[in-house]
Amino acid sequence: MSGSDLVIVYHRQPFEEVEVDGRVEFREHKSPNGIVPTLKSFFQTVDRGSWVAWQHVDELGQEPEHPHVTMDDRHGTYEVSRIGLTPAQVASFYHVTSKAALWPVLHSFALNFDAQAADWETYREVNRLFAEAACEQASDDALIWIHDYNLWLVPSFIRQIKPDAKVAFFHHTPFPSADVFALLPWRDEIVDSLLACDIVGFHIPRYAENFVQVARSLRGAEVAEKVAVEDGLSPHGMALSEPEVTTKLRYWDREVRLDSFPIGTNPTLIRKVLGERAAGEKGFEIANELGDQQLIVSVGRVDYTKGTIETLLAYERLLERRPELHKRIKLMVTSVAPASGMTVYDETRHEIEQQVGRIHGRFATLDWGPIMLFTTPIPFEELLSYYRAADQCWITPLRDGLNLVAKEYVASKDPLEPGVLVLSEFTGCSVELPDAVIANPYSHESLDAAIDHAIDMSVEERANRMARLTASVDHYDIEHWAGHILTQFEALRSR
Ligand code: UDP
Repeated sequence: MSGSDLVIVYHRQPFEEVEVDGRVEFREHKSPNGIVPTLKSFFQTVDRGSWVAWQHVDELGQEPEHPHVTMDDRHGTYEVSRIGLTPAQVASFYHVTSKAALWPVLHSFALNFDAQAADWETYREVNRLFAEAACEQASDDALIWIHDYNLWLVPSFIRQIKPDAKVAFFHHTPFPSADVFALLPWRDEIVDSLLACDIVGFHIPRYAENFVQVARSLRGAEVAEKVAVEDGLSPHGMALSEPEVTTKLRYWDREVRLDSFPIGTNPTLIRKVLGERAAGEKGFEIANELGDQQLIVSVGRVDYTKGTIETLLAYERLLERRPELHKRIKLMVTSVAPASGMTVYDETRHEIEQQVGRIHGRFATLDWGPIMLFTTPIPFEELLSYYRAADQCWITPLRDGLNLVAKEYVASKDPLEPGVLVLSEFTGCSVELPDAVIANPYSHESLDAAIDHAIDMSVEERANRMARLTASVDHYDIEHWAGHILTQFEALRSR
């Protein structure tokens, strides 16, 4: 059997596993949204492609029931290879080490960092298993594309097994400054692994520059090429502004390319869904229920990085400051609960629920509920109808790698009914969307001023801002990202 030319390594599975009449079936994800379909579309560019993921097994070292699956979906035929992980390994690797130790550091939440909770041995072992499975699938000079921080050590294991493979890595999260990254006791091992890659990808130039500082200070890597950041990604004077970005590092005899390019949303798909009859009916239902109230949406997961508490308290201050808005506005917050077994978010979840209850209890009347909280995911197609109906969208994370919701909101709006996006300057997408009302969520004054500006904004200003936001979201869409990555890969293959 010849090996695959492209191997994608990601902890997410590229399909849904369903049981039908006692038999396991593998189906393409129902929701067309998200990064997985885009990643699979890369298989169309090679003769043979593989995806490495994991599956639960009962005992250490056990083979999963379906270790190799050949998928045939609209992205063509590709192999899926799965490593077996026990519930204890998953809990340790994913729920504890990744989420209690790495996640807070990536998001610059030093006080939430718990080095003692981490089980680095298991993390390393799981990473080794992913690397071995990837190498089993790969041809000798294959391109192996690894995703996200929970697989940080995979590149160095791959280098040991397949020295001629091309190794690419993409971060879906922020990358912190050198001061914060240095908190990780395993920092040298992580940087060495990233420097074993041929190309390391980030969403925005700031994250790449943070990595450069880390690689220079801890490992003595040298900057080999630095270029001006393209216009659409380099606003001046914002928290994450970066006028220049490093594109090549030299480390011993190796050249490591760095790439900073934000993942996009799919505006064509969003508009198609919103043009369908079901969306029309949902929109009608939402409009009926709202009457003449204005809708503000704030969509995210339960996570202390997402700034949900800051949003809730800002809303409370708004209702206090401007009583004339009572009965005229409604805040819809979605804060999707994490997978079961993830205890690091318990406190945040409890506090969100408690604050929503308190604010609601303080201002609600028999005929008006000022706030609604959803804790289970709203199907993507339905969420789009809420975005379209919403007069405002508040996205106020304290730190967020990118934030796709902000882009989806922009893509969902009807140009004839422009909305307002209030956006934290600590989200990666803020560098693409400086025409949002930009706020610093750490400052009550900044957030309150942004919200007042959004509420009082003239229709003309809304329309102008929204037109510029839409142009950016349409330009930096998911196809543009995929095209950009493909060009990088082609350059890598011809090296
Ligand atoms: N989402 C959804 N239903 C919900 C809440 C969120 O489908 O109830 C989707 C949302 O549309 C977006 C994704 O989940 O596509 C969240 O991506 P984002 O980059 O904003 O945040 P992340 O969760 O990756 O940090």
